[in-house]
Amino acid sequence: MRAGAVAPAVLRVLRQDLARYLAHPVWLSPGLLDPGPAFDPNRQQYLATTLMMALLDPPPPPGLHRIAVTGVDLFLPVFTHVFGTAQIDGPVGIASLHRLRPEAAGDPPDRELLRHRILKEVLHELGHTFGLVHCRVPWCAMRASRVPEQVDLKDAAFCDDCAQRLGIPGDGVRGNPGKE
Ligand SMILES: [Zn+2]
Ligand SMILES: [Zn+2]
Repeated sequence: MRAGAVAPAVLRVLRQDLARYLAHPVWLSPGLLDPGPAFDPNRQQYLATTLMMALLDPPPPPGLHRIAVTGVDLFLPVFTHVFGTAQIDGPVGIASLHRLRPEAAGDPPDRELLRHRILKEVLHELGHTFGLVHCRVPWCAMRASRVPEQVDLKDAAFCDDCAQRLGIPGDGVRGNPGKE
């Protein structure tokens, strides 16, 4: 297993969850992303944009969006860390489990909590690849988050405005709690 590789079972559950939330088929790629070239020895972290660019080599086939899920700690130069990053209206993005694991904050492991956090983070990056920018609705998946607790406040869903831009049904089923 390469550094940062995520357990296949985690990805299988993520694929099932994503397929439920999106009106598009979801594939798991067997490809492994080598995080080595993105490692920054000073920060002991991995530069997210380097990994994102690697996902474009070769680019996904037309109409497909590719989101990598990694276990390594990602950063962008202006931030101490990021949970992920993506092209705005481009086909690729990357999401990291590193800081989403409850253990990262000294809490006991919680697979269900981690499952929901990963799903929200991947939905967020996918939203960017479909052209969405950050949203102010507190529970919307496109709300920016810097700490896991902010991810927990979000729902694994897009608000009506974001859903409309994506061309998918809004979150009417679950009643839009706390919408601004
Ligand atoms: Zn974002
Ligand atoms: Zn929104």
